[in-house]
Amino acid sequence: ARKGRTPEEVVRRYLQKVRNPPEEDCTICMEALAGPSGYKGPGVGGISRAESVGRLSQCGHQYHLQCLVAMYNNGNKDGSLQCPTCKTIYGVKTGNQPPGKMEYHVIPHSLPGHPDCKTIRIIYNIPPGIQGPEHPNPGKPFTARGFPRHCYLPDSDKGRLVLKLLLVAWDRRLIFSVGTSSTTGEADTVIWNEVHHKTEFGSNLTGHGYPDSGHLDNVLEELRAQGIAEEDCLR
Ligand code: NAD
Ligand code: ZN
Ligand code: ZN
Repeated sequence: ARKGRTPEEVVRRYLQKVRNPPEEDCTICMEALAGPSGYKGPGVGGISRAESVGRLSQCGHQYHLQCLVAMYNNGNKDGSLQCPTCKTIYGVKTGNQPPGKMEYHVIPHSLPGHPDCKTIRIIYNIPPGIQGPEHPNPGKPFTARGFPRHCYLPDSDKGRLVLKLLLVAWDRRLIFSVGTSSTTGEADTVIWNEVHHKTEFGSNLTGHGYPDSGHLDNVLEELRAQGIAEEDCLR
């Protein structure tokens, strides 16, 4: 979290004032926008009724200011905010991926469906550890199964673009998360976040392999949903 900025100050940066709230409900608390926020938790005292509703500046969706502040406080407080309705990202979204290593190199073999190029192998390594305040159970250990995890991309122009964006996603802690594995049901473990990777090399027995002609476009879309787009990379 950046110093010297309260959650309310962060949230306000992305809001425009709303003088007359519409006759609609706030979709965070399901109470009328014209009335008070349904959020009763801590940390939102002091917000005056006169400024109780805000409009997100890019997408225009409106919420109780208290509800947005509560939502921000429930996240990892990185200075960014995501509209819960349309997922527009304000600021730079980061995740809660635990510390680890991302490496890659080119191997001289072709992936099924990409016969004309070599292959980029990415190796992720995350050791088990103790959960931080940004994780579901702070202070509790988390496990890390199946590491190092090897992932494959075609060494084509588009594959290299995906790699470049994955490196940005890694720096922003968005590749993995800590939670319950949907495959094994294990809680408090390192899991893939919302960006799909191919972990199978020469076949596709798991559904996480090649050939898959839509894979690179799907990953670009998933990265965009995390706020990482081609344009940012060229800056
Ligand atoms: P998860 O089961 O909670 O699923 C999260 C996302 O990852 C989902 O979108 C899912 O489709 C995707 N996913 C699931 N299995 C995947 C796989 N094998 N390769 C690529 N994507 C996959 O996520 P998770 O618990 O992190 O991973 C699923 C399982 O895969 C875990 O049990 C992990 O141990 C295992 N795994 C093992 C190895 C290994 O080398 N032994 C490598 C990678 C993953
Ligand atoms: Zn509300
Ligand atoms: Zn929105």
